[in-house]
Amino acid sequence: MTSLIRFSIITTGLILLSACQPEAPVANTDQASAPRANSNTGSDNASVAIVIHGGAGTITREAMTPDREAAIRGALEQALKAGHDRLSAGDTSIEAVIAAINVMEDAPEFNAGRGAVLNHEGFVELDASLMDGATGQAGAIAGASTQDGGIRYPIRAAHAVMTDSPHVMLSGAGAEAFATTQGLEFIESDWFITDFRYQQWEDARSARAGNTDTARWYSTVGAVALDQNGNLAAGTSTGGMTNKRFGRIGDSPIIGAGTYADNASCAVSATGHGEFFIRHVVAYDICARMRHKGVSLDQAADEVIHGVLVDAGGDGGVIAMDRQGHIAMPFNTEGMYRASIDTNGQMTIAIYGDEVANPSE
Ligand code: ASP
Repeated sequence: MTSLIRFSIITTGLILLSACQPEAPVANTDQASAPRANSNTGSDNASVAIVIHGGAGTITREAMTPDREAAIRGALEQALKAGHDRLSAGDTSIEAVIAAINVMEDAPEFNAGRGAVLNHEGFVELDASLMDGATGQAGAIAGASTQDGGIRYPIRAAHAVMTDSPHVMLSGAGAEAFATTQGLEFIESDWFITDFRYQQWEDARSARAGNTDTARWYSTVGAVALDQNGNLAAGTSTGGMTNKRFGRIGDSPIIGAGTYADNASCAVSATGHGEFFIRHVVAYDICARMRHKGVSLDQAADEVIHGVLVDAGGDGGVIAMDRQGHIAMPFNTEGMYRASIDTNGQMTIAIYGDEVANPSE
């Protein structure tokens, strides 16, 4: 047999062999890197859903201008669609959460990234966290300063902690150094500070600040998503609370308090007076009630926001979703910036307490 014929026989054999192999599953990188407890085998036709918030607080029509309201609704819609597009394209819930939060981190209307609140010393310190409901993996950064330039997208830094470090949370200069080694984008300090936040900070520091209203605008951002593989994820990003003490860290970067995700129950992102959310482990408590008491998402979220938190005197709210794509957005303040696209593709955007919070209500 000539070597040419031998080559053709081998090649034909290989082609036939490979044609008989079942098609390799298209695994996303997250799934490839870690076992996914509770994850579906993955139907491409499965429904996706996303819910986001841009903070809760003393949000009333009287305190709002038409321009500001239009800007907020526009930014919520843009963020929602950015996340939903990723889900529709088959990306993971983690990727969708990051995409939605990045839009709000860039939007000056919200207290995250650009537009973050100032601490008592007059500079910005950023917190963010992210959790994967399929693997239980989580990452967070806390107290990352923008004084000498800051991390433009803190949620990406939280993601890098989750995927590229053995840790869950990095803080301060260590978080900034880690973000640098990860090649994340930094941007000059002035970019973060808006006139609106500067005024809010001055009000909070001045005699007028007997008025605690500005301190009760919790414009932290968050997102929760369900992807085509039936996996949940949650993320939260914030500048914390206006005029906070230098070094203060709230609930947003704390897994279990401001962010939690578990495919076995639900995924949650919180906004409000962080100290109360930490003390009452709010995000985890909602998921734990579902898991251990067997109650619905709505009931679990309601018990914590309107029961536990109200009894304790804590203001705020959450967005939450279970694996069936049910959405809950309870809050005990006058309003909460919130938006969702449910598994039927129905979109809602709402601000005030008297607006319909979600289509399933
Ligand atoms: N929960 C955040 C914190 O306490 C504030 C907010 O929700 O806007 O830092």
